[in-house]
Amino acid sequence: MKTINDFNFAGKKALIRVDFNVPQDENKKVTDNTRIVAAKPTIDKILNEGGSVIIMTHLGRPKGKVNPDFSLSHIVDEVSKVLGKEVKFATDCIGEVAEKAAAELQAGEILLLENLRFYNEEEAGDEEFAGKLAKLGDVYVNDAFGTAHRAHASTAVIAKFFPSTKFFGLLMANELQAIDKVLRSGERPVTAILGGSKVSTKITIIENILPAVDNLIIGGGMSFTFIKALGGNIGNSLLEADKMDLALEILEKAKQHNVKVFLPVDVVVADDFSNDADRQEVDIYHIPEGWQGMDAGSKTREIFHDVIMNSRTILWNGPIGVFEMENFSAGTKALGDSIYEATKLGAFSLVGGGDSVAFVKQNGYADKVSYVSTGGGAMLESLEGLELPGVAAINNESLLKPPIIYWLLVF
Ligand code: AMP
Repeated sequence: MKTINDFNFAGKKALIRVDFNVPQDENKKVTDNTRIVAAKPTIDKILNEGGSVIIMTHLGRPKGKVNPDFSLSHIVDEVSKVLGKEVKFATDCIGEVAEKAAAELQAGEILLLENLRFYNEEEAGDEEFAGKLAKLGDVYVNDAFGTAHRAHASTAVIAKFFPSTKFFGLLMANELQAIDKVLRSGERPVTAILGGSKVSTKITIIENILPAVDNLIIGGGMSFTFIKALGGNIGNSLLEADKMDLALEILEKAKQHNVKVFLPVDVVVADDFSNDADRQEVDIYHIPEGWQGMDAGSKTREIFHDVIMNSRTILWNGPIGVFEMENFSAGTKALGDSIYEATKLGAFSLVGGGDSVAFVKQNGYADKVSYVSTGGGAMLESLEGLELPGVAAINNESLLKPPIIYWLLVF
């Protein structure tokens, strides 16, 4: 993997694609700067070596039109605060304005370009547009894991213009290493914990990770489709009836791969999908009519705990209960505690993908696990075994080679 650590940036202008698609309040003030903080190590390394930095990002969905609501001018102050340096701003990401600002940039300086998505060409992966961006820098760095699953002009296509000077930023490298640990190089036993609402959204992940893991814990809403397929009564719990055969197939495939599967054995049920509903704990195979499974039961939490404590590498994606409701969040919290305990004993733990990331952040577990992914869709696609366009563009040889006739004329 070619990272910025393989290059000395002295005197170079680095064109960096980051993901500064940050949340803002009604006055456009940044409300969560996590994504800016995440790119700081990469930017610092380049500046400290005497390079200069040209930052490219998108913000929101302006749909290919200039729209002041989505202007990156609103985030200049926050970027400057996080980086501890003045940040210059170009009111366009290509053309004369951008070229002049880039040309005037001195070593140690930072330039932020206006929103890439003010141009349709960005999301269309337009090569000419990518070429106009490429003109601005000597080196291309991709540190935008959050958009690495998109084949956009600035995330993938642009790399062609930097056949030997394209690198992963440090955030990107950390994300890829974390995934690699889970899928390939991690210490065994490897345990994947998959929760969330639906089997259908996790099926490709399950199929891809089966050859890599020793244990598979299935929890949350998706577990009821398995329990029903195994003959249980699940009352009003979430069910994807058309996925019951698939659930049995997964269990069969797991057997073939010698993967131990752990499903919940008991469950906290409610008589309504609401925080104030009546609750009771029951055997997951005997959920009474009119009741629905909302959280992992106490025996289940213990079983999951034991598996996790005996693991050296842990992947967690998806809550194992309706954690948004306080009365049904205890199971997911217990799971977080188990992962924390295992991590303290030296296991590597990766939390990735939408809701589990929200959960660990809201409940103070972010510093208690080894790595929390910054990319929802990109993380899920990686776990599904897909090569992300943003990653392939750096790893692969450039496709933008002169036509064969050129070589014939030269020699
Ligand atoms: P996903 O986006 O598929 O990862 O699913 C996350 C959602 O699953 C969260 O909003 C949880 O509330 C929900 N969830 C987890 N367990 C259950 C359950 N037992 N019943 C209904 N929803 C659940």
